[in-house]
Amino acid sequence: MSAKFTTTNPATGEILKEFPTAEDTEISALLDASDDAFQKWRTTPAVERTIPIDRAADLMDERRSELAELLTLEMGKLPSEAEAEVELSAKILRYYARQGPQMLADETLSPASGGHAVLKREPIGPLLGVMPWNFPYYQVVRLAAPNLVAGNTVILKHASNCPQSALALEMIMRDANLPRDCYRNVFADNDQIQTIIADERVRGASLTGSEGAGSAVAAGAGEHLKKSILELGGSDPFIVLDADDLDSAVSAAVAGRMANAGQSCIASKRLIVLDDVYEEFVDLLTDKMSQFVAGDPRDSATTLAPLSSEQAAQDLMEQVRDAIDHGAHVHTGGQRVDSPGAFVQPTVLTGVTAQMRAYAEELFGPVAVVYSVKDEDEAIELANDSSYGLGGTVVSDDVEKAQRVADRVDTGMVWINQATWTEPDLPFGGTKRSGVGRELGAEGIQEFLNKKLIRTP
Ligand code: NDP
Repeated sequence: MSAKFTTTNPATGEILKEFPTAEDTEISALLDASDDAFQKWRTTPAVERTIPIDRAADLMDERRSELAELLTLEMGKLPSEAEAEVELSAKILRYYARQGPQMLADETLSPASGGHAVLKREPIGPLLGVMPWNFPYYQVVRLAAPNLVAGNTVILKHASNCPQSALALEMIMRDANLPRDCYRNVFADNDQIQTIIADERVRGASLTGSEGAGSAVAAGAGEHLKKSILELGGSDPFIVLDADDLDSAVSAAVAGRMANAGQSCIASKRLIVLDDVYEEFVDLLTDKMSQFVAGDPRDSATTLAPLSSEQAAQDLMEQVRDAIDHGAHVHTGGQRVDSPGAFVQPTVLTGVTAQMRAYAEELFGPVAVVYSVKDEDEAIELANDSSYGLGGTVVSDDVEKAQRVADRVDTGMVWINQATWTEPDLPFGGTKRSGVGRELGAEGIQEFLNKKLIRTP
């Protein structure tokens, strides 16, 4: 049996490097170290805490190519997307290094009964981050950057298929002169994750990943009366009301569906198009989706990367086959790419009904489902007929109309005339089964703080 923490090149299936799971004694030492580090870090002035975070941003920029290469190697990301992820991660570190201290400033309150009151924002302790493989740096810095600036310490349990990316990020923090135990990577199994959550010194947990994993981590946190933040799946609607330039709208949908080979929680997974433009939309979409070129992501001609693992490709194909078996129409794709590696053809499905898995489940790969609707109301009804509520897009030449529709879409984020994406200073998160809490922006630093009231007469 292969080790749990393994680098496997998804473009070839070749196992490249294995790492042992931590011993229980290492977990225990790590918890001691993280808490010791917290006791010092919490008393370090916030402005001083920003220095290594700012430096970590610079180091990510300096090491952009080598960090990006690891992403391509471990989870198959196209180099251009891998470099963009490194760049975005550096921006998030820099954003909190520059803006964080003012977000932590004391707030003066004016009690109605007179006297004075101040709200202080204090760190709470070591936090556990359980993170996924789809954006191995970005997902981690979303938790680490604000919380290290806030004075918490971070224990990172990364996905088992990106151990080298996890170690590279730990090295960045070390080289940036962050005190060593303020940020530690650990190759822990699921039982050890629960041990870490249960430890009384650990004050919170944050998970990005599947609903099952989120539920396990949140249940552990709940049992021990700790806060958890969850960023889970999504099945984002991309609603097209009208568009004079339909070709651009389709390009935005393709970008939204195909970024990261479709393995993004905020991908445009359900394309909901008004009747007037539906047929032309499907034709243009089919044409654009047929043009991707599968291959080794390091080859500059490649535009279709593999999925992160063979298992991911098999799981996605089961969902696609289920739809086809139940009568969905395939406009392009619908099969594995005929080559080694975890490749699935870019696929366009129509005629998907509520009886098919593809209607309700998240499709974590290059598969777009297009629905036709008669009007705005039907579009909103379909958009909201999902257990997920992460992001979404509304396309219209009439921006005010698009905003009105956006107000009725039950998700955490809606982007007008562009696929949902992420920026350091904008809060990110979902509602319903897509998660709990917010990351990024001013909101993201507030989640794991003790908002302490000091009342004076
Ligand atoms: P997982 O949710 O299994 O993995 C995410 C993280 O959670 C990993 O670090 C994983 O560890 C850990 N984990 C898994 N199970 C548990 C558990 N019981 N207790 C504690 N930690 C756990 O994602 P998958 O890789 O299996 O992807 C499956 C699906 O999840 C995707 O198809 C997609 O729908 C969703 N997903 C959503 C993401 C998002 O960005 N919101 C990101 C990734 C996945 P380990 O790797 O060691 O198992």
